[in-house]
Amino acid sequence: PGEQLAHDPSKKTIVVLGSGWAATSLLKKLDTEYYNVVVISPHNYFLFTPLLPSVSVGTLEARSVIQPTRYITRHKTRRVEVYEGEAKSVDVKNKTVTFEDNSDIKGAVSTTTIPYDYLIYAVGAENQTFGIKGIREHACFLKELPDAEKLRTRLMDCVETAAFKGQAPSEIDRLMHIIVVGGGPTGVEFAGELHDFLVDDLHSWYPELANHLHISLIEALPNVLPVFSKQLIQYTESTFKANKIDILTRTMVKEVREKTVLVQGENKELREIPYGLLVWAAGNTSRQITRDLMAQLPNVQNQRRGLLVDDHLRLLGADGVFALGDCTATLYAPTAQVASQQGKYIGRVLEQMAKKEQLEATLRSLRVSPDAKPEEIEAVVKQINKVANIKPFHYSHQGSLAYIGSEKAVADLPLFNGNLATGGVATFLFWRSAYISNLLSLRNRFLVLNDWMKVKLFGRDVSRE
Ligand code: FAD
Ligand code: NAD
Repeated sequence: PGEQLAHDPSKKTIVVLGSGWAATSLLKKLDTEYYNVVVISPHNYFLFTPLLPSVSVGTLEARSVIQPTRYITRHKTRRVEVYEGEAKSVDVKNKTVTFEDNSDIKGAVSTTTIPYDYLIYAVGAENQTFGIKGIREHACFLKELPDAEKLRTRLMDCVETAAFKGQAPSEIDRLMHIIVVGGGPTGVEFAGELHDFLVDDLHSWYPELANHLHISLIEALPNVLPVFSKQLIQYTESTFKANKIDILTRTMVKEVREKTVLVQGENKELREIPYGLLVWAAGNTSRQITRDLMAQLPNVQNQRRGLLVDDHLRLLGADGVFALGDCTATLYAPTAQVASQQGKYIGRVLEQMAKKEQLEATLRSLRVSPDAKPEEIEAVVKQINKVANIKPFHYSHQGSLAYIGSEKAVADLPLFNGNLATGGVATFLFWRSAYISNLLSLRNRFLVLNDWMKVKLFGRDVSRE
């Protein structure tokens, strides 16, 4: 495939923005025989986000949970163009995308504009901060791979600073107080992983700090994990209690300062809580490029939550654009499950559309051919009708899973017409096996299994990079 020309002027061009769940599952499914395919993403890899919290404390290494996009595209029948760059703007009228090399090293060309026939818009979302003061300056996030690496480094910095000679006990308490804001699955999973790191490793490597370690989870709503069933919420809250993770529910963060966070409780009273590390996991909002895209279509794109699409995932108000995953505002939750099913669906739709065009060309030539038999024409018409019948996107929910620490997980699994809610160590083993089998490649499976074994044998690495 590498030898083949990437661009065939007789074929339509699909531009894919992103290399996350939606884009990658589309690339896996897409038959590149029918189209020229161009992929643009600021990261030249796919990130398996469900295991990102494990990277932030060193249970897994960063490279174990990523897969270069070229590993996927190199197996395609025709060469796919892959560019590391950030799409800066989409012109839906002229059907072009402008993208830029935003890495440190730049060549003579670092920005360019390309045309598309079909655009697969799958840029995901960014962290929601609600404009709260101090978050960008002082908090850590847990959304992308560099976030997890930065978090791991900052965490160890707090530990080493707390262990510094002559540090006062009150300052050690502050430095070793880790606050997680957001009791959704990201915040809960991170708090669970962090607990394991503190108990399994830090207690023995830094015994002098053991009594000062403290995790708090702050959530504005009355409980954590609102999308999980009631009994699993209770199970998670009691597991956290047993693990000495404080849950502050009905508590809103109002401002993040350098060493303290300002919160407001149910009684509207404001109080300041000292911290060493604060992790912001309060959900998603649209990226700037998505907001700019909405602004081009003000009459139809009026949802702040994300892009509006029809039931075939076509962007409302634009021709030839499909929007998938977290950048959209649909009935579905912004999850990897939804994004990957949408990617697969669009891969199928594009194949059907290409087949339809091919058949229509055959029909046109048959109709002008003196030798064509009526039954031949009829057969082609039938085939066209078959491929023209493109069904709307249908989501099939496979269940929700979350790791909550101390080798326990919670799972809501659809079962016949009901739901199986389960939590504990057996669910944790199920969680591990589900993720191992969902990882994209044998290489990733091997690396993740190896990391788990390494941690079991030697513990997590506490050196600060
Ligand atoms: P993403 O996967 O975020 O991909 C977006 C892509 O677009 C990225 O490759 C990015 O680099 C690229 N991009 C960004 N800006 C641009 C630009 N300007 N131009 C071009 N490309 C761009 N969901 C689950 O179902 N189960 C889980 O267990 C789970 N765990 C999670 C754990 C964490 C820590 C997080 C943060 C999320 C988790 N999710 C989980 C949610 C899931 O990761 C998202 O719903 C999913 O990633 C959405 O897929 P997407 O393709 O829309 O976006
Ligand atoms: P989320 O939106 O699910 O949760 C964010 C939480 O932060 C909310 O409960 C909200 O009430 C709280 N919050 C917001 N502002 C606050 C404030 N100022 N003070 C205190 N609390 C505040 O976000 P998430 O956990 O990052 O998840 C994002 C998406 O990714 C969801 O769809 C989720 O299902 C998915 N996800 C799934 C998994 C999993 O299945 N294991 C793991 C991670 C993420």
